[in-house]
Amino acid sequence: MDTLSPIMLGFLGSLVAGSMTAVGAIPVLFGRIPSRATRDLSLGFAAGVMLAASFFSLIIPALDAAEMRYVNEAAPAAIVCVAILLGMGAVALMNEKLPHEHFSTGREGPKAASLRRVWLFIIAITIHNFPEGLAVGVGFGADGVSGGMPLAIGIGLQNAPEGLAVAVSLLGEGYSKVRAWGIAALTGMVEPIGGLLGAGIITISEPLLPWGLAFAAGAMLYVISHEIIPETHRSGHQNKATLGLAIGLVIMLFLDVWLG
Ligand SMILES: [Zn+2]
Repeated sequence: MDTLSPIMLGFLGSLVAGSMTAVGAIPVLFGRIPSRATRDLSLGFAAGVMLAASFFSLIIPALDAAEMRYVNEAAPAAIVCVAILLGMGAVALMNEKLPHEHFSTGREGPKAASLRRVWLFIIAITIHNFPEGLAVGVGFGADGVSGGMPLAIGIGLQNAPEGLAVAVSLLGEGYSKVRAWGIAALTGMVEPIGGLLGAGIITISEPLLPWGLAFAAGAMLYVISHEIIPETHRSGHQNKATLGLAIGLVIMLFLDVWLG
């Protein structure tokens, strides 16, 4: 694997991770939908993995990279803080600016409202898959296999419950099994685009490394707080959701230290 360029590794790693969205949604094709409690547990797991990945695989490496470049004590922390806020702000802005009128004005009543909520969730999942791909790409670009592998595995793992959540919510809105699965699979295909970009930028411009890592972390943190955790708490399974989060968090922490 060392013979592949970091850009190729970043692309392949994020492609595999992104494909896990389609894999996770497979039960829907067979009409086998896990209970809401199980889905909330597994989506909580996704939130835990993303939380740990943000800090251990992105923010800490971002600080390390910045510390190597700047002697000033405060500069590395300041850069990382600003980049995190930029990442969070970018996703917030995209959430705000994406056209949703189609859903709010097309039909009225509770049906339209729930369809709109489902699509907002899907859009948020798709948007945050971009920085996830970016993170995997940046990991491979910055540090080769040892930098990218823990991220590719962790991000791949947490994509499975996300894909399932998307497919199940579409099924609930009356979409066919195949369409629900297909749309869930598509949300993951943003990841290799992010992966290619992330690995490319880092390979070309090393000064951007701390910015890119912390920006990707910020984008993920926004989605965890704004979409994933609220989604897992909507149906009364808060305990299971938190248990899932704890498991995801320690698994990603372990992967990062063990493989990183
Ligand atoms: Zn995710």
